[in-house]
Amino acid sequence: MNEIAVTSNQVDKPRSFDVEKVRADFPALHQEVNGHPLVYLDNAATTQKPNAVIDALVDYYRGYNSNVHRGAHYLSDKATAAFEEARRTVSAFIHSLAAEQIIWTRGTTEAINLIAATWGRQNIQAGDVILVSTLEHHSDIVPWQMLALEKQAKVVPLPLTTSGEIDLNAFTDLLDSRVKLISLNHVSNALGTVNPVKEICALAKQYDITVVVDGAQAVAHFPVDVQDLGCDFYAFSGHKLYGPTGIGVLWGRRELLDAMPPYHFGGEMIERVSFSGTTFNQLPYKFEAGTPDIAGAIGLAAAIVYLTSLDRKAIVQHEHELLAYAIEKAKNIDGLVRVGTAEHAAGIFSFVVDGTHPADIGMLLDQQGVAVRTGHHCAQPLMESLGLPGTVRASFSMYNTKADVDSFFNALQKVLQLLR
Ligand code: PLP
Repeated sequence: MNEIAVTSNQVDKPRSFDVEKVRADFPALHQEVNGHPLVYLDNAATTQKPNAVIDALVDYYRGYNSNVHRGAHYLSDKATAAFEEARRTVSAFIHSLAAEQIIWTRGTTEAINLIAATWGRQNIQAGDVILVSTLEHHSDIVPWQMLALEKQAKVVPLPLTTSGEIDLNAFTDLLDSRVKLISLNHVSNALGTVNPVKEICALAKQYDITVVVDGAQAVAHFPVDVQDLGCDFYAFSGHKLYGPTGIGVLWGRRELLDAMPPYHFGGEMIERVSFSGTTFNQLPYKFEAGTPDIAGAIGLAAAIVYLTSLDRKAIVQHEHELLAYAIEKAKNIDGLVRVGTAEHAAGIFSFVVDGTHPADIGMLLDQQGVAVRTGHHCAQPLMESLGLPGTVRASFSMYNTKADVDSFFNALQKVLQLLR
């Protein structure tokens, strides 16, 4: 396969951010739910999609649906060009050195499973230690547990401070030659904590430890530069980044990806197959067996082009203000306890209210058109460490407004009157 050059098709013109204009681009936001205007605060679960993404999917299926890489015809060439351009768009988005380091997956979960099943099986041995933070989503715990079981290695949790941040002193104490891997999220989906990934990578390098970063909750909120972070692998999902479901990304350092065995076997990932033996394709195709999610990749690129056409600094500031506003408003609610008070937090307001159950709050908020998430947020070890069954989580996105926060707290006041 030919080298894939990195180019960026991201818009190179002055960017601006006007929340009302952005909202107008997201059709699903403009509807009533249970007789109330929708207030969508479940963005950490999945974001809504802008017209640019919906149109890109429709254009592909209406106009040039075809399989990639193997067709000797116009439509296949067109689909292949768009699919590989999407890879270059993702590559530029996270500042990868080369587009070959972008592997399409179904999402963050599959990306982490891929690393565990390939790099993990090749490199983890009996007695080795895998460090994961206590903040992790189950998808960044269970694959390592399964690997550890198979290899007789050990998964050790990184303790947290009371504010829900990784305890860096405890972390440093855990570092020794037995630790082969650290896996942690860039932003916690349950508390919103932004982890000091760059600092952790620098410490890990002193011990030659490989670092996996789960960026599922980061990429939509602030610019990510994988080279600057110094990590070895970075994973994220398209659907939390205004893109389609079913598509995600694994980025890895080239020398690691080159040395890893394939994950799945079949078409596309081979160089030559014969009954006397099979050789494998080069990056990135070595990891992409079978027909990929072509529409998903094209839709994800459309989401990235859309997002990067906006002023991202202004988006960071806007989301920061929404969170600060929610924290202020929460002070007026008796018995509300914010869970996770990290100094650096992105887009998530997690809380419990004395004498109430999170599930009841979520259900009654929904009756007023407010969509939040309740429960353990696929982070049961975290909830256990906090001594909580779960929390209510309002998660903000660039298209939310202070009016959304007002509606949410007005609805919450009514809910609490009913529940108390
Ligand atoms: N990691 C984090 C931090 C998440 O928030 C999520 C989803 O909520 C995942 C991983 C799993 O992502 P997906 O279900 O898209 O694979």
